[in-house]
Amino acid sequence: MHDVVVVGAGCAGMRAAIEAFDTGADVGVVSKLHPTRSHSGAAEGGINAALGNSAEDSPEKHAFDTVKGSDYLGDQDAIEILANEAPGDIYQLEHWGCVFSRNDEGKLAQRPFGAAGSPRTVYSADITGHVLIHVLYEQTMKRAAQGPLHVYEEFFAWRLAIEGGRCVGVICWDLVNGGLKLVTGKSIVLATGGMGRIYRATTNAYACNGDGMAMALRAGLPLKDMEFMQFHPTTLYPSGVLITEGCRGEGGFLINRDGERFMARYAPNALELASRDVVSRSETTEIEGGRGVNGSVLLDLRHLGAERILTRLPGSRELAMTFAGVDPIYDPIPVRPGAHYHMGGVATDNWGATEVDGLYAAGEVACVSVHGANRLGGNSLMETITFGRRAGQAAAEHALSSSPGSISGAPLADAERDLGRLLARKEGERPWKIRDELGSSMLENFGVFRYGERMAKQLEIIAGLRERFENVVVEDKGDVFNTDLTGAIELGYMLDLAWVMVQAGIARTESRGAHSRPADFPERDDEKFLKHSITRWTDDGPELSDQEVRMTKWQPEVRSY
Ligand SMILES: Cc1cc2nc3c(=O)[nH]c(=O)nc-3n(C[C@H](O)[C@H](O)[C@H](O)COP(=O)(O)OP(=O)(O)OC[C@H]3O[C@@H](n4cnc5c(N)ncnc54)[C@H](O)[C@@H]3O)c2cc1C
Repeated sequence: MHDVVVVGAGCAGMRAAIEAFDTGADVGVVSKLHPTRSHSGAAEGGINAALGNSAEDSPEKHAFDTVKGSDYLGDQDAIEILANEAPGDIYQLEHWGCVFSRNDEGKLAQRPFGAAGSPRTVYSADITGHVLIHVLYEQTMKRAAQGPLHVYEEFFAWRLAIEGGRCVGVICWDLVNGGLKLVTGKSIVLATGGMGRIYRATTNAYACNGDGMAMALRAGLPLKDMEFMQFHPTTLYPSGVLITEGCRGEGGFLINRDGERFMARYAPNALELASRDVVSRSETTEIEGGRGVNGSVLLDLRHLGAERILTRLPGSRELAMTFAGVDPIYDPIPVRPGAHYHMGGVATDNWGATEVDGLYAAGEVACVSVHGANRLGGNSLMETITFGRRAGQAAAEHALSSSPGSISGAPLADAERDLGRLLARKEGERPWKIRDELGSSMLENFGVFRYGERMAKQLEIIAGLRERFENVVVEDKGDVFNTDLTGAIELGYMLDLAWVMVQAGIARTESRGAHSRPADFPERDDEKFLKHSITRWTDDGPELSDQEVRMTKWQPEVRSY
């Protein structure tokens, strides 16, 4: 038995594992992917900390921008922790070997990002996530060579083992050799990332299916703010590959088919650097109003000049050339909103603790909540580091001060039985079609704008898909890289989460952040809805309740950019 088992090896998971090890724990890390393949590695634009290297800045300003960006739904105590601890965490990453870009004075460079009052985003050109994940992997491997830290690579976590009210381990399918294995720990940290794949058009990697959220939900834990999915304004048409907000941070324009910089009509001050919910809605209004080009708008970088594009945004140029056949030095890039980041997740306190003894969560799978109804660009990577560190420390302290939980073997036996049943089925529908229909219908009926009838229709669609899923067949019965099996399990996770999301969306009869109901409830309603939604799984499906937002200094104001 390990002291701490971390499930997930993206930025949050590896940061948690490093801290747990440094606190003195024996650590196991379970990941369905090789760690550096985690979606964190795809992050481009950067990571926010109020260093004040490009203009005056302070953690207080960072916190206020985040509270406002969250449409006042973020928990302000958590946001203050993020803003205050971010600078120290960035310097530590730098000392560990992150090669961040520099300004002319030789200090860490900072670029402007959406809805940030000051240039606050630290970056490594436009491959920031790649740099972070490799440095964290190096630090993890260094510790693995020194002491008790083991990475269970290509282990697919399927279920949490909870016995007597305590989380004692995680039941995994060994992707390389087959078979179910129970990895036990005195503390477990979920760091399994997001769930963008629930939508057909998304920036997220194939692995982002909400596994950890669904595992927690089925184990009886509350999920928080599940209706809030962020649509990123600039994803490549048609593939959905992300073009970083850094392009607009460096001065890129958004134009419609008439060449108009339309953001002047929607956010006259911040223009292209308004917050993401605002820009995505503006683009959708342009496209639906017939002023788009092939279902997209255009991101124009030409005026930045070749040198700036080649030094500051080389990765974005390459993506545009490879996936849209456009060289942004000469032509504008076709972009549209795509599902990008899930603000909700497993409810935790400011140390990553969930309501189950011994279970912690950090990163995109968790909801602390620092993003509320809308996340600011650059704040998510920072959250993975700051709250990954805090969760790793708290999990280690819990493990080192408690005796092991008792393990009866019953959860593993249940899992063996259910797996046997699934694999025994010889006829039925393959998972992929259900998955496609889920992705398309979520985009259609629960996207940038939400309408009462469409959400009700989506609930019916999800019910139908869930019924079909009961008869899903896994044709591959083999032990080696059975992606047919894991694909079916992931689809089950997504069908649970889609239900939870749409139900929470229907109940929130207001517009706040990424949840926008232009036809029936266009305004924010602080009197009724300055509250987190909380969903728990019951025998009759998801059940909703709510929770107060934790406020410290800032009262809600009208949000304009
Ligand atoms: C294209 C893109 C660009 C982005 N750019 C930025 C940016 O510039 N700045 C910013 O702040 N944010 C950005 N974000 C958001 C940010 O990168 C993510 O929110 C963050 O990296 C998530 O980190 P994580 O550690 O929580 O999860 P991930 O990095 O997604 O890692 C999840 C880990 O969990 C493991 N896992 C998942 N399910 C299972 C399972 N069932 N069993 C075992 N292991 C499992 C995976 O193997 C993986 O190791 C971007 C996101 C995308 C998609």
